Amino acid sequence: MSNGSPIPGPRRRRIVILGCTGSIGQSALKVATDIPERMEVVGLAAWRSVDLFVEQVRTWKPLVAALADSPAAAEARERLAGVAGPEILEGEAGLCALATLPEADLVLIAIVGTAGLRPALAAIEAGKDIAVASKEILVMAGAVVMEAARRKGVRVLPVDSEHNAIFQCLEGRRPEEVSRLLLTASGGPFRTWPSAELLGVTPAQALKHPTWEMGRKISIDSATLFNKGLEMIEARWLFDIPMQKVEVIVHPQSIIHSMVEFVDNSVLAQLSTTDMCFPIQYAVTWPERVPNRLAALDFAQLAKLEFEAPRLSDFPALSLARHAGESGGTLPAVLNAANEVAVAAFLAGDCSFPAIWETVAAVMEAHAQEASPDLDAILAADAAARKAATALLY
Ligand code: NDP
Repeated sequence: MSNGSPIPGPRRRRIVILGCTGSIGQSALKVATDIPERMEVVGLAAWRSVDLFVEQVRTWKPLVAALADSPAAAEARERLAGVAGPEILEGEAGLCALATLPEADLVLIAIVGTAGLRPALAAIEAGKDIAVASKEILVMAGAVVMEAARRKGVRVLPVDSEHNAIFQCLEGRRPEEVSRLLLTASGGPFRTWPSAELLGVTPAQALKHPTWEMGRKISIDSATLFNKGLEMIEARWLFDIPMQKVEVIVHPQSIIHSMVEFVDNSVLAQLSTTDMCFPIQYAVTWPERVPNRLAALDFAQLAKLEFEAPRLSDFPALSLARHAGESGGTLPAVLNAANEVAVAAFLAGDCSFPAIWETVAAVMEAHAQEASPDLDAILAADAAARKAATALLY
């Protein structure tokens, strides 16, 4: 967490949502519907889902909107012609214009993958607080993003449910009081499957998450456990804590969203029903809590909360991510990029499920590590890893 700016008082936050048509983006709009006195939507951006984007622009009437894909932006302009509405921008420049919108004070980065990196940095440079769902950008360039936030005195608010939980548990605590961050993992759809059966996993099976409804990429990441691996690295940067203090515990019910163990061996946990509206709302209203219409927990119904150690040898993603996070430098960007390419190949039916981590491992193995990369070096490592992964897979 960057601690530069003063704690905001109770007020209506003016928000830009990058990735408005996705699972997180749509949950954010639900939050805006639920707490309109606290959240005003001033900008909306997506890639190319024209139908939903046009509908959202009509409903929310943002000041500015953008589609990254130029033909899609042209189509949206045509469909919105005659409607007194916002200018529709396009391309990465359009996303960056939204991220720096003078009227906005919080930018939610909910773009899948790494396309949100430059808009996130643009928002920080413009002095905006950012709420980050896109874990990939912190995995890839955590040092660069957090350093820019510290320099500009803006806040990086975690939206990922695990990090939002840790953020809540850590409030008011000094770093030296923390002994471990315990990220909870559902274990994904194959938690109990014998390892030999993982070879035959289909995209449809992998997309069926047991407890959360999410976008396609994060659903596959949850099935391989790369999602938890990415989250370990994300936690390292968000909370400025060594990787050695970040651990994963499988908790199939997904009710405890994560925990912090302190040096006195006391553990604080954050619990709620499984709905991303909880962490999104908290990022928006922090440091306050306000009432909402989300479902409360019924402990008698829950009956039990279970825990188990992750199966590290059957799901190598966690060890690969720990290695990348501990090595630092360009290696996390390489892991992330190779994973993105391999997930896309798996979803397209072009490779097996285990080929996802086999590809990531091979690309990491071949990578010549750079210890203290700047943004250009990170982007170069990302591009090289994508090329290497593609060459292995096709
Ligand atoms: P989705 O696939 O549901 O949505 C992705 C969003 O990103 C869409 O709005 C999509 O637009 C947009 N997008 C994709 N590529 C680009 C691009 N190049 N430029 C601009 N916009 C783009 O993903 P999720 O909502 O599930 O996830 C978003 C991020 O949040 C991911 O990083 C994920 O890891 C993280 N996250 C998600 C959680 C969840 O519950 N879903 C939980 C915690 C973190 P379009 O529709 O036009 O393609």
